[in-house]
Amino acid sequence: MYKKLFIPGPTHVVDEVLEAMAIPMIGHRDSLYSDMHGEVVEKLKKMLYTDNRIYLSTSSSTGMMEGAIRNCVQTKALMTDCGAFSKRWAQIATANGKETEVIKVEMGEAITPEMVDEKLAQGGFDSVFITHNETSTGVTNPLKEIAALVKEKYPDVLVLVDAVSIMSGAEIRVDDWDLDVVLAGTQKAFALPPGLCVIAVSDAAFERSKTTENKGYYFDFVALEGKAVKSQTPATPALSLINALNVQMDRIIKEGVENRFTRHAEMAKYVQDWAKEYFALYVNDEKYLSPTITNIKNTRGISVADLNKELAKRGAMLSNGYGALKEKSFRIAHMGDLQMEDLKWLTGQIEDILEL
Ligand SMILES: *Cc1c(COP(=O)(O)O)cnc(C)c1O
Repeated sequence: MYKKLFIPGPTHVVDEVLEAMAIPMIGHRDSLYSDMHGEVVEKLKKMLYTDNRIYLSTSSSTGMMEGAIRNCVQTKALMTDCGAFSKRWAQIATANGKETEVIKVEMGEAITPEMVDEKLAQGGFDSVFITHNETSTGVTNPLKEIAALVKEKYPDVLVLVDAVSIMSGAEIRVDDWDLDVVLAGTQKAFALPPGLCVIAVSDAAFERSKTTENKGYYFDFVALEGKAVKSQTPATPALSLINALNVQMDRIIKEGVENRFTRHAEMAKYVQDWAKEYFALYVNDEKYLSPTITNIKNTRGISVADLNKELAKRGAMLSNGYGALKEKSFRIAHMGDLQMEDLKWLTGQIEDILEL
């Protein structure tokens, strides 16, 4: 039996979007394709408040994370580790032979502008990598403030952002916040099937890419740009997913991007309040609580695995704690096309199963 997903990706996909995957194939050098590609890009620009170039990458987000590093790091990257996904940036950089330094905080804590300032002041960095929403802990880092600090004091340092589990669920003003690279896969807050990643690239990041050596072939910004100007991609794109994204962007614009952000904030507040009533929040400082995922401390010592087994019988699935947090916490995702009534239903089921 299929379950409604309250996990941080893949997320619940509505029928209209699933059906948009079932189109006849079109040639990717046909104007039908370019029209679709061009429409998607324009809608994404609107949602991200940007005039920067946007590429559609047929890959999961991790692929484009690797691409971003290979295009933009020439000397040394500053990595900011506050959990499993932000750690991944550093792992990818090291795997690609790039020099890094890492700011590491305890899981559940956020990265602050002061920490970034202190490190960058040592000099030698050409880039800083931020995970906007750390999915493993439920922390949203103060991206706007960090970017403002970097751009004011270290204008040559590029700001690269993993916005995977937050893009389309909260405001990201790419141009106003001066973000050089921002990327996200489609299977999280976008509420599409996995396999596609969108990335916004600034002039500065693009210029950097032009002089970077050994950046590989598939994710080369210069190659992507060469085709993007014709609303195409260098290799065969995931056409079905791009059509689904086009339909989903229409749904997002119809809801209103700001209304969509508000809906996420309201769902987050509801789940946070519920967590505080029956358990406790994993994140100590409430100003960093995520709008798309809540990490709940397992203060009652329940078996999260058993809870999920019972929920499965009722048609739902939530997430156990990530890695070392398994059974110590559990996570409820409230992103994408989930609605307030879905969250109310879920918490009602949990109360019933646990006899709270
Ligand atoms: C899910 C996730 C990723 C990895 O995405 P894939 O699509 O599995 O490659 C990276 N960063 C964050 C913050 C995520 O939530």
